[in-house]
Amino acid sequence: MTEPPTPAKRRYDVAASRDDVATTLRQAADQEGFVLCGITDAVDSPGFNRLARWVELGYAAGMGYFASRLDAYRHPDRVLQGARSVAALAYPYAAHAAPPAGPGEGRIARYAWSGDDYHDVIRAKLHRVCDATRAAGTHPDGDPIGVRGVVDTAPLMEREIAELAGLGWRGKNTLLIRPGLGSYFFLACVLVDLPLPADPPFETFHCGTCTACLDACPTDAFPQPGVLDASRCISYLTIEHRGPIPTELREPIGDWVFGCDVCQDVCPWNRKPARHAEHAEPPLETVDLHEILMLTEDGFRKRFRKTPLWRARRQGMLRNAAIVLGNRREPAAETPLAETLEDDDPVVRAAAAWALGRLDTDSARESLRRRAPRESDPTVIAEIEHALGDAPASSAENLL
Ligand code: SF4
Ligand code: SF4
Repeated sequence: MTEPPTPAKRRYDVAASRDDVATTLRQAADQEGFVLCGITDAVDSPGFNRLARWVELGYAAGMGYFASRLDAYRHPDRVLQGARSVAALAYPYAAHAAPPAGPGEGRIARYAWSGDDYHDVIRAKLHRVCDATRAAGTHPDGDPIGVRGVVDTAPLMEREIAELAGLGWRGKNTLLIRPGLGSYFFLACVLVDLPLPADPPFETFHCGTCTACLDACPTDAFPQPGVLDASRCISYLTIEHRGPIPTELREPIGDWVFGCDVCQDVCPWNRKPARHAEHAEPPLETVDLHEILMLTEDGFRKRFRKTPLWRARRQGMLRNAAIVLGNRREPAAETPLAETLEDDDPVVRAAAAWALGRLDTDSARESLRRRAPRESDPTVIAEIEHALGDAPASSAENLL
Protein backbone atom coordinates (compact mmCIF):
# COMPACT_ATOMS: atom_id res chain seq x y z
CA MET A 1 0.00 0.00 0.00
CA THR A 2 1.39 3.34 -0.95
CA GLU A 3 1.74 6.00 1.72
CA PRO A 4 -0.35 9.12 1.19
CA PRO A 5 1.83 12.01 0.14
CA THR A 6 2.94 14.35 2.93
CA PRO A 7 1.33 17.68 2.24
CA ALA A 8 3.99 20.15 1.21
CA LYS A 9 4.54 22.48 4.13
CA ARG A 10 3.83 26.03 3.07
CA ARG A 11 7.07 27.94 3.28
CA TYR A 12 6.74 31.00 5.53
CA ASP A 13 7.96 33.99 3.57
CA VAL A 14 9.37 36.27 6.26
CA ALA A 15 9.93 39.26 3.99
CA ALA A 16 6.48 39.03 2.40
CA SER A 17 4.85 38.75 5.80
CA ARG A 18 6.67 41.83 7.09
CA ASP A 19 5.73 43.77 3.98
CA ASP A 20 2.08 42.76 4.48
CA VAL A 21 2.11 43.91 8.07
CA ALA A 22 3.73 47.24 7.22
CA THR A 23 1.39 47.85 4.28
CA THR A 24 -1.65 47.02 6.38
CA LEU A 25 -0.50 49.31 9.16
CA ARG A 26 -0.01 52.19 6.72
CA GLN A 27 -3.37 51.61 5.04
CA ALA A 28 -5.22 51.35 8.33
CA ALA A 29 -3.56 54.56 9.55
CA ASP A 30 -4.57 56.32 6.37
CA GLN A 31 -8.17 55.11 6.71
CA GLU A 32 -8.31 56.42 10.25
CA GLY A 33 -7.32 59.90 9.12
CA PHE A 34 -3.65 59.94 10.07
CA VAL A 35 -1.99 62.16 7.49
CA LEU A 36 1.56 60.92 7.99
CA CYS A 37 2.90 57.47 8.76
CA GLY A 38 6.54 56.48 8.90
CA ILE A 39 8.24 53.40 10.29
CA THR A 40 11.57 53.22 12.08
CA ASP A 41 13.52 50.53 13.90
CA ALA A 42 13.01 50.34 17.65
CA VAL A 43 16.45 51.31 18.92
CA ASP A 44 18.10 52.83 21.97
CA SER A 45 16.95 56.42 22.05
CA PRO A 46 19.75 58.59 20.61
CA GLY A 47 18.40 61.54 22.62
CA PHE A 48 18.13 59.80 25.98
CA ASN A 49 21.05 61.68 27.54
CA ARG A 50 19.61 64.96 26.36
CA LEU A 51 16.29 64.09 28.00
CA ALA A 52 18.06 63.13 31.24
CA ARG A 53 19.92 66.45 31.23
CA TRP A 54 16.66 68.32 30.56
CA VAL A 55 15.06 66.68 33.58
CA GLU A 56 18.16 67.32 35.68
CA LEU A 57 18.03 71.02 34.85
CA GLY A 58 14.47 71.19 36.17
CA TYR A 59 12.94 71.97 32.79
CA ALA A 60 10.27 69.30 33.28
CA ALA A 61 8.92 71.50 36.10
CA GLY A 62 6.19 69.67 38.03
CA MET A 63 5.89 66.83 35.52
CA GLY A 64 7.46 64.39 37.93
CA TYR A 65 6.69 61.40 35.73
CA PHE A 66 9.69 62.24 33.53
CA ALA A 67 12.05 61.70 36.45
CA SER A 68 10.16 58.83 38.05
CA ARG A 69 10.19 56.71 34.89
CA LEU A 70 13.19 58.21 33.15
CA ASP A 71 14.83 54.86 32.51
CA ALA A 72 11.81 53.71 30.52
CA TYR A 73 12.60 56.30 27.83
CA ARG A 74 15.82 54.48 26.91
CA HIS A 75 14.23 52.05 24.47
CA PRO A 76 10.72 51.45 23.08
CA ASP A 77 10.85 47.87 24.38
CA ARG A 78 9.96 49.34 27.78
CA VAL A 79 6.59 50.20 26.27
CA LEU A 80 6.11 47.00 24.29
CA GLN A 81 8.19 44.01 25.26
CA GLY A 82 10.31 42.90 22.31
CA ALA A 83 9.46 45.97 20.21
CA ARG A 84 11.40 45.90 16.95
CA SER A 85 9.67 48.64 14.96
CA VAL A 86 7.78 51.82 15.71
CA ALA A 87 5.40 53.58 13.38
CA ALA A 88 5.03 57.31 13.96
CA LEU A 89 1.66 58.76 12.97
CA ALA A 90 0.43 62.34 12.66
CA TYR A 91 -3.19 63.33 13.20
CA PRO A 92 -4.07 66.91 12.26
CA TYR A 93 -5.93 69.48 14.30
CA ALA A 94 -7.45 72.83 13.39
CA ALA A 95 -5.21 74.91 11.19
CA HIS A 96 -7.36 77.96 10.38
CA ALA A 97 -6.55 81.43 11.65
CA ALA A 98 -7.32 81.93 15.32
CA PRO A 99 -10.19 84.33 16.05
CA PRO A 100 -9.34 87.12 18.48
CA ALA A 101 -10.76 86.84 21.96
CA GLY A 102 -13.74 89.16 22.50
CA PRO A 103 -14.47 91.13 25.70
CA GLY A 104 -14.48 88.85 28.71
CA GLU A 105 -13.07 85.95 26.71
CA GLY A 106 -9.92 83.85 26.97
CA ARG A 107 -8.16 81.98 24.22
CA ILE A 108 -7.82 78.23 23.99
CA ALA A 109 -4.91 76.40 22.31
CA ARG A 110 -5.93 75.14 18.91
CA TYR A 111 -5.37 71.49 19.68
CA ALA A 112 -8.39 71.73 22.00
CA TRP A 113 -10.69 73.71 19.69
CA SER A 114 -12.66 70.65 18.63
CA GLY A 115 -13.81 70.21 22.22
CA ASP A 116 -12.89 66.51 22.05
CA ASP A 117 -10.30 64.91 24.25
CA TYR A 118 -7.72 63.86 21.68
CA HIS A 119 -6.63 60.95 23.85
CA ASP A 120 -10.08 59.40 23.45
CA VAL A 121 -10.34 60.16 19.75
CA ILE A 122 -6.87 58.96 18.78
CA ARG A 123 -6.88 55.97 21.10
CA ALA A 124 -9.98 54.61 19.37
CA LYS A 125 -8.30 55.04 16.00
CA LEU A 126 -5.10 53.40 17.23
CA HIS A 127 -7.09 50.41 18.46
CA ARG A 128 -8.38 49.83 14.96
CA VAL A 129 -4.94 50.31 13.41
CA CYS A 130 -3.48 47.83 15.90
CA ASP A 131 -6.22 45.27 15.28
CA ALA A 132 -5.67 45.44 11.52
CA THR A 133 -1.90 45.19 11.95
CA ARG A 134 -2.19 42.19 14.25
CA ALA A 135 -4.41 40.41 11.77
CA ALA A 136 -2.00 40.98 8.89
CA GLY A 137 0.67 38.47 9.87
CA THR A 138 2.37 36.33 12.47
CA HIS A 139 5.86 35.62 13.68
CA PRO A 140 7.66 32.93 11.62
CA ASP A 141 6.77 30.34 14.29
CA GLY A 142 3.11 31.22 13.96
CA ASP A 143 2.90 33.21 17.17
CA PRO A 144 0.75 36.30 16.96
CA ILE A 145 2.60 39.55 16.62
CA GLY A 146 2.56 42.02 19.48
CA VAL A 147 1.25 45.49 18.64
CA ARG A 148 0.59 48.47 20.91
CA GLY A 149 -0.65 51.93 20.06
CA VAL A 150 0.15 54.89 22.31
CA VAL A 151 -0.68 58.55 22.34
CA ASP A 152 1.06 60.89 24.71
CA THR A 153 0.90 58.88 27.92
CA ALA A 154 3.67 56.28 27.47
CA PRO A 155 7.38 56.89 28.10
CA LEU A 156 8.30 57.32 24.44
CA MET A 157 10.31 60.04 22.76
CA GLU A 158 7.65 60.59 20.12
CA ARG A 159 9.23 63.54 18.35
CA GLU A 160 12.58 61.81 18.05
CA ILE A 161 10.87 58.66 16.79
CA ALA A 162 8.89 60.72 14.28
CA GLU A 163 12.09 62.30 13.01
CA LEU A 164 13.75 58.89 12.68
CA ALA A 165 10.66 57.63 10.87
CA GLY A 166 10.98 60.43 8.31
CA LEU A 167 7.99 62.57 9.34
CA GLY A 168 9.79 65.87 9.74
CA TRP A 169 12.37 67.76 11.75
CA ARG A 170 12.27 69.12 15.27
CA GLY A 171 12.17 72.90 15.04
CA LYS A 172 13.75 75.40 17.37
CA ASN A 173 10.34 75.51 19.09
CA THR A 174 10.91 71.78 19.88
CA LEU A 175 7.90 70.70 17.79
CA LEU A 176 7.91 68.40 14.82
CA ILE A 177 7.50 70.26 11.54
CA ARG A 178 6.68 68.78 8.16
CA PRO A 179 7.10 70.80 4.97
CA GLY A 180 3.66 71.40 3.48
CA LEU A 181 1.89 70.43 6.67
CA GLY A 182 3.45 72.61 9.36
CA SER A 183 3.17 71.49 12.97
CA TYR A 184 -0.55 71.54 13.74
CA PHE A 185 -0.87 67.84 14.44
CA PHE A 186 -0.77 65.27 17.24
CA LEU A 187 1.82 62.52 17.23
CA ALA A 188 0.99 58.92 18.05
CA CYS A 189 2.98 55.69 17.81
CA VAL A 190 2.31 52.06 17.01
CA LEU A 191 4.91 49.62 18.34
CA VAL A 192 5.31 46.21 16.73
CA ASP A 193 7.44 43.27 17.91
CA LEU A 194 8.31 42.34 14.33
CA PRO A 195 11.07 44.07 12.35
CA LEU A 196 9.25 45.98 9.61
CA PRO A 197 10.82 47.68 6.59
CA ALA A 198 11.86 51.13 7.82
CA ASP A 199 11.54 54.51 6.14
CA PRO A 200 14.56 56.79 5.77
CA PRO A 201 14.94 59.32 8.60
CA PHE A 202 14.28 63.01 8.07
CA GLU A 203 17.81 64.34 8.07
CA THR A 204 17.51 67.96 7.07
CA PHE A 205 16.86 70.95 9.34
CA HIS A 206 14.76 73.71 7.83
CA CYS A 207 14.69 76.40 10.50
CA GLY A 208 17.75 78.07 9.01
CA THR A 209 18.45 81.45 10.60
CA CYS A 210 14.82 81.95 11.62
CA THR A 211 14.27 82.66 15.32
CA ALA A 212 10.61 83.75 15.16
CA CYS A 213 9.39 81.27 17.77
CA LEU A 214 12.20 82.08 20.20
CA ASP A 215 11.63 85.81 19.83
CA ALA A 216 7.83 85.63 20.12
CA CYS A 217 7.52 83.43 23.19
CA PRO A 218 5.78 85.67 25.75
CA THR A 219 7.48 84.07 28.75
CA ASP A 220 10.96 83.52 27.33
CA ALA A 221 10.58 79.77 27.80
CA PHE A 222 13.41 78.69 25.47
CA PRO A 223 16.77 78.78 27.29
CA GLN A 224 18.29 77.83 23.93
CA PRO A 225 16.95 76.83 20.51
CA GLY A 226 15.24 73.46 20.67
CA VAL A 227 15.10 73.39 24.48
CA LEU A 228 11.93 74.23 26.39
CA ASP A 229 11.85 75.19 30.04
CA ALA A 230 8.36 73.96 30.86
CA SER A 231 8.32 75.89 34.14
CA ARG A 232 8.03 79.09 32.06
CA CYS A 233 5.77 77.80 29.30
CA ILE A 234 2.18 79.04 29.25
CA SER A 235 0.95 75.64 28.05
CA TYR A 236 2.46 73.97 31.08
CA LEU A 237 1.44 76.72 33.49
CA THR A 238 -2.19 76.89 32.41
CA ILE A 239 -2.78 73.15 31.94
CA GLU A 240 -0.42 71.03 34.03
CA HIS A 241 0.70 73.31 36.83
CA ARG A 242 -1.16 73.11 40.13
CA GLY A 243 -1.18 75.96 42.61
CA PRO A 244 -0.48 79.67 42.06
CA ILE A 245 1.25 80.80 38.88
CA PRO A 246 4.47 82.72 39.61
CA THR A 247 3.72 86.44 39.70
CA GLU A 248 6.19 87.50 37.01
CA LEU A 249 4.64 85.09 34.49
CA ARG A 250 1.02 86.20 34.94
CA GLU A 251 1.09 89.29 32.75
CA PRO A 252 2.87 87.52 29.86
CA ILE A 253 0.08 84.95 29.85
CA GLY A 254 -2.04 87.65 28.20
CA ASP A 255 -5.40 86.20 27.19
CA TRP A 256 -4.39 82.52 27.06
CA VAL A 257 -6.73 80.73 29.45
CA PHE A 258 -5.77 77.21 28.33
CA GLY A 259 -2.52 76.48 26.50
CA CYS A 260 -0.65 78.71 24.07
CA ASP A 261 0.04 78.58 20.32
CA VAL A 262 2.36 81.53 19.89
CA CYS A 263 5.49 79.57 18.96
CA GLN A 264 3.50 77.61 16.38
CA ASP A 265 1.46 80.49 15.00
CA VAL A 266 4.55 82.58 14.20
CA CYS A 267 6.32 79.70 12.47
CA PRO A 268 6.61 80.35 8.72
CA TRP A 269 5.97 76.65 8.10
CA ASN A 270 2.46 77.12 9.50
CA ARG A 271 1.63 80.04 7.25
CA LYS A 272 -0.12 77.85 4.75
CA PRO A 273 -0.74 74.63 6.62
CA ALA A 274 -2.72 71.91 4.90
CA ARG A 275 -6.34 71.88 6.06
CA HIS A 276 -8.10 68.72 6.93
CA ALA A 277 -11.54 67.84 8.12
CA GLU A 278 -12.44 70.30 10.84
CA HIS A 279 -15.56 71.04 12.80
CA ALA A 280 -17.56 73.65 10.89
CA GLU A 281 -17.61 75.84 13.98
CA PRO A 282 -15.08 74.62 16.52
CA PRO A 283 -16.88 75.03 19.82
CA LEU A 284 -13.89 75.88 21.96
CA GLU A 285 -11.76 78.53 20.28
CA THR A 286 -12.47 80.93 23.12
CA VAL A 287 -14.40 80.74 26.38
CA ASP A 288 -16.37 83.25 28.42
CA LEU A 289 -14.25 83.92 31.49
CA HIS A 290 -17.09 85.24 33.64
CA GLU A 291 -18.92 81.96 33.08
CA ILE A 292 -15.81 80.01 34.02
CA LEU A 293 -15.53 81.90 37.30
CA MET A 294 -19.08 80.88 38.22
CA LEU A 295 -18.56 77.14 37.72
CA THR A 296 -18.96 74.89 40.73
CA GLU A 297 -17.11 71.56 40.80
CA ASP A 298 -20.26 69.92 39.49
CA GLY A 299 -20.79 72.58 36.83
CA PHE A 300 -17.19 72.24 35.71
CA ARG A 301 -17.59 68.50 35.44
CA LYS A 302 -20.75 68.78 33.36
CA ARG A 303 -19.30 71.35 31.02
CA PHE A 304 -15.77 70.07 30.52
CA ARG A 305 -15.55 66.40 31.55
CA LYS A 306 -15.25 65.21 27.96
CA THR A 307 -13.03 68.03 26.75
CA PRO A 308 -9.28 68.67 26.95
CA LEU A 309 -9.98 71.45 29.47
CA TRP A 310 -10.78 68.81 32.08
CA ARG A 311 -7.03 68.31 32.40
CA ALA A 312 -6.56 71.73 34.01
CA ARG A 313 -9.22 70.93 36.62
CA ARG A 314 -11.59 73.48 38.06
CA GLN A 315 -8.89 75.10 40.18
CA GLY A 316 -6.64 75.63 37.16
CA MET A 317 -9.34 76.99 34.88
CA LEU A 318 -10.71 79.45 37.46
CA ARG A 319 -7.19 80.56 38.36
CA ASN A 320 -6.38 81.08 34.67
CA ALA A 321 -9.66 82.90 34.03
CA ALA A 322 -8.95 85.32 36.87
CA ILE A 323 -5.43 85.97 35.57
CA VAL A 324 -6.64 86.66 32.03
CA LEU A 325 -9.32 89.01 33.38
CA GLY A 326 -6.61 90.76 35.37
CA ASN A 327 -4.63 91.15 32.17
CA ARG A 328 -7.64 92.40 30.19
CA ARG A 329 -8.50 95.00 32.88
CA GLU A 330 -12.13 95.27 31.77
CA PRO A 331 -14.45 97.02 34.26
CA ALA A 332 -17.12 94.34 33.69
CA ALA A 333 -14.82 91.80 35.32
CA GLU A 334 -14.90 93.52 38.69
CA THR A 335 -18.08 91.97 40.07
CA PRO A 336 -17.28 88.36 39.01
CA LEU A 337 -13.77 88.73 40.41
CA ALA A 338 -15.06 90.16 43.69
CA GLU A 339 -17.45 87.22 44.00
CA THR A 340 -14.55 84.86 43.28
CA LEU A 341 -12.81 86.19 46.40
CA GLU A 342 -15.36 84.02 48.25
CA ASP A 343 -14.43 80.82 46.40
CA ASP A 344 -13.59 77.78 48.53
CA ASP A 345 -10.24 77.29 46.78
CA PRO A 346 -7.41 79.53 48.04
CA VAL A 347 -5.54 79.26 44.71
CA VAL A 348 -8.60 80.69 42.96
CA ARG A 349 -9.10 83.41 45.60
CA ALA A 350 -5.42 84.39 45.32
CA ALA A 351 -5.69 84.77 41.54
CA ALA A 352 -8.89 86.83 41.93
CA ALA A 353 -7.13 89.09 44.44
CA TRP A 354 -4.25 89.64 42.03
CA ALA A 355 -6.65 90.40 39.18
CA LEU A 356 -8.66 92.89 41.27
CA GLY A 357 -5.41 94.64 42.11
CA ARG A 358 -4.72 94.95 38.38
CA LEU A 359 -8.11 96.61 37.80
CA ASP A 360 -6.80 99.41 40.00
CA THR A 361 -10.18 100.93 40.89
CA ASP A 362 -11.50 102.17 44.23
CA SER A 363 -14.32 99.65 44.19
CA ALA A 364 -11.94 96.75 43.45
CA ARG A 365 -9.78 97.84 46.37
CA GLU A 366 -12.88 98.06 48.54
CA SER A 367 -13.75 94.43 47.67
CA LEU A 368 -10.25 93.38 48.68
CA ARG A 369 -10.47 95.29 51.97
CA ARG A 370 -13.82 93.70 52.77
CA ARG A 371 -12.38 90.23 52.21
CA ALA A 372 -9.10 90.79 54.08
CA PRO A 373 -10.35 90.42 57.70
CA ARG A 374 -12.14 87.15 56.87
CA GLU A 375 -9.27 85.62 54.91
CA SER A 376 -7.25 82.94 56.70
CA ASP A 377 -5.01 81.57 53.94
CA PRO A 378 -1.52 83.15 54.11
CA THR A 379 -1.01 83.14 50.33
CA VAL A 380 -4.31 84.89 49.73
CA ILE A 381 -3.63 87.39 52.51
CA ALA A 382 -0.29 88.19 50.89
CA GLU A 383 -1.94 88.60 47.48
CA ILE A 384 -4.54 90.97 48.95
CA GLU A 385 -1.88 93.02 50.70
CA HIS A 386 0.16 93.11 47.52
CA ALA A 387 -2.86 94.12 45.47
CA LEU A 388 -3.66 96.91 47.93
CA GLY A 389 -0.11 98.11 47.68
CA ASP A 390 0.67 97.59 51.35
CA ALA A 391 2.52 94.28 51.14
CA PRO A 392 4.86 93.69 54.06
CA ALA A 393 8.39 92.31 53.59
CA SER A 394 6.97 88.79 53.18
CA SER A 395 5.22 89.62 49.92
CA ALA A 396 3.08 87.31 47.80
CA GLU A 397 6.11 86.30 45.75
CA ASN A 398 7.86 84.96 48.80
CA LEU A 399 4.96 82.69 49.48
CA LEU A 400 4.84 81.10 46.02
FE1 SF4 B 1 6.36 80.04 24.73
FE2 SF4 B 1 3.76 79.67 24.32
FE3 SF4 B 1 5.52 78.21 22.99
FE4 SF4 B 1 5.19 77.82 25.61
S1 SF4 B 1 3.68 77.45 24.00
S2 SF4 B 1 7.13 77.96 24.53
S3 SF4 B 1 4.79 79.95 26.27
S4 SF4 B 1 5.25 80.45 22.85
FE1 SF4 C 1 12.09 76.99 13.15
FE2 SF4 C 1 11.43 79.55 12.70
FE3 SF4 C 1 9.53 77.69 12.94
FE4 SF4 C 1 10.95 78.45 15.06
S1 SF4 C 1 9.55 79.73 13.91
S2 SF4 C 1 10.43 76.36 14.52
S3 SF4 C 1 12.96 78.81 14.16
S4 SF4 C 1 11.10 77.82 11.33
